[in-house]
Amino acid sequence: MIERLEREWSVACVWHNPNIQPAEEHERRLESMRTVAERTGTSLAVLPYDVDRWPELCARLLEEPEGGARCEVCFRMRLEATAQWAVAEGIETIATTLSISPHKDVERINAIGHDVAARHGLLFLAGDFKQRGGFQRSVELSREWGLYRQNYCGCLQSMR
Ligand code: SF4
Repeated sequence: MIERLEREWSVACVWHNPNIQPAEEHERRLESMRTVAERTGTSLAVLPYDVDRWPELCARLLEEPEGGARCEVCFRMRLEATAQWAVAEGIETIATTLSISPHKDVERINAIGHDVAARHGLLFLAGDFKQRGGFQRSVELSREWGLYRQNYCGCLQSMR
């Protein structure tokens, strides 16, 4: 995504994934993100790993299937934190890596992104970043840079 966006934008990254459990898994993925930032020369802000936040928001949605209402809340939680960070940094446009995944509903992600951004006076760069070879390129670079590739989405429900 950074590679593609850098053709037209100045890119800064922010990491906020308190949905990822357990903590060792979160750390492992964050390490890979640090490698990406280093390799691409991109700044990376890491927001606190607020482990209580996700259960607070999703407590009544634990039985939901992956891709259902729980994920909608989870997308919103992360985009909300991104928007707050962007406002504080004086950044006017936000985007998300979520659409790189072939398992995610891109229309829902983009709708939430537009909604969250608008409420913070920002623009949301909607896109389907797995398209036009985006997903294949992410796999290729992961191999080249030795990045960890997760085999579940993030929460314990998705792990099970
Ligand atoms: S499956 Fe993924 S997107 Fe859905 S709630 Fe769990 S971590 Fe969030």
